[in-house]
Amino acid sequence: MKTMQDDIQSVLYTEEQLKECVQKIADKINKDYEGKEIYAIGILKGAMIFYADLVRAINVPVAFDFMAASSYGKGASSSGEVKILKDLDFSIEGKHVIVIEDIVDSGLTLSYLLRVLQSRHPASIKLCALLNKPERREVDVKVDYVGYDVPNEFLVGYGLDYASKYRNLPYIGILKPEVYTK
Ligand code: 5GP
Ligand code: MG
Ligand code: MG
Repeated sequence: MKTMQDDIQSVLYTEEQLKECVQKIADKINKDYEGKEIYAIGILKGAMIFYADLVRAINVPVAFDFMAASSYGKGASSSGEVKILKDLDFSIEGKHVIVIEDIVDSGLTLSYLLRVLQSRHPASIKLCALLNKPERREVDVKVDYVGYDVPNEFLVGYGLDYASKYRNLPYIGILKPEVYTK
C-alpha cells in the first residue's frame, strides 16, 4: 500500500529537532513578554500544529484567536492575492499580539495581515514563523521570531500541506517534485 512517506524525498527536520526549535523560540518569547499577557493569533490551517506546541512552551498567559487567509490553494505557487476567510473573534485593541505562522515565503500574506491588524491598534505586534524562505521574498516583512531559514523547496508536514494532505506528518519533509508537477 502507498503511504504518505512514499511522497517524501527527504526529511528536513525530525520531530525531535522541531521540539527543540519550538522550545528555543518559546524561551525568547518568555523572556520578552515577562509580566505581560499575549494575544496569540494563529494563521489557519498551516500554523495549527506549531501553534499548539509553541503555546504549551510559553509560561505567560496566552489568549487564543485564529485567522484564515487564502494563500496557495491547490497549487505550489502564490497568486499574490490575499483574502481573509475567517477573521478574529475579539478586538485586539491594547493587546500584545503575536501572529503565529507556519512559513513566510513571498511575505505577501503576512504583510497584508499585518497591515490589517495594525489598523486595529494593538499595544504591540510581533510576528513568529517556524520557517522562513528568504530566497522567495517579494515584499519586506520583518519576522521577529524564526525557527529555521529553509531552502527553496516545497515542504510538507507539521501542519504544512499540499492539496490538503500531509499536514499530520510529525516531521517536516521535502515533497517529491513529481507529486506536484504531475
Ligand atoms: P506567502 O504569502 O509568504 O508567499 O505564503 C505564505 C503561505 O504559503 C504559508 O503560510 C503557507 O501556507 C504557504 N507556503 C509557502 N511555502 C510553502 C511550502 O514550502 N510548503 C507548503 N506546504 N506551503 C507553503
Ligand atoms: Mg500559513
Ligand atoms: Mg497550504
